[in-house]
Formats: sequence, C-alpha cells, structure tokens
Amino acid sequence: MSTIPSDRPTQQVADASHFEQSISGVTGELIRIECDCPIGEDHTYADWLARFTRAGF
Ligand SMILES: [Zn+2]
Repeated sequence: MSTIPSDRPTQQVADASHFEQSISGVTGELIRIECDCPIGEDHTYADWLARFTRAGF
C-alpha cells in the first residue's frame, strides 16, 4: 500500500539575492556587489571561481 503525499507545487527559489564581496584594487576596501548567482549567499569572487570553474574542465 503506497501513500503518495500531496506535494505542493514546486516552488522555485529564484530570490537568491545576496552580495559578492570584492576587494578594491585601488583602495583596498571591501566592496559588496549585489549578486543573484546560484550560490545563494554572500561569497567572494574567489568563491565564485571555485564554484563555477573546475580544473580540467
Ligand atoms: Zn553570488
């Protein structure tokens, strides 16, 4: 006997707005740039590269 739960309609997590943190090469200050990439939380540019750049790809 199998009971299939009535799932809610799939809700897209489209609102993933957060900030990319970057260091200004000019002033050395921390800059926060609004971002909506799939990481979904504050990250650095290096994090972004690590996430979306794969060695050997
Ligand atoms: Zn992002």
